[in-house]
Amino acid sequence: MTTDPGTGRARQLPVFHCPYCGDEELTPHGESSDGWRCGACLRAFSVRLIATGVQE
Ligand SMILES: [Zn+2]
Repeated sequence: MTTDPGTGRARQLPVFHCPYCGDEELTPHGESSDGWRCGACLRAFSVRLIATGVQE
């Protein structure tokens, strides 16, 4: 996981596979840093981290 040392904020989450079709042809999409576009199924989606170290 890449973290920008300047801001302490996590940078764009690396997404390796489309959650809808499983293709790897993903490119950044839209204004937000968590937006991705799949070149295979042409879906655009966002990936957002909501928690870390969840125990239950
Ligand atoms: Zn896809």
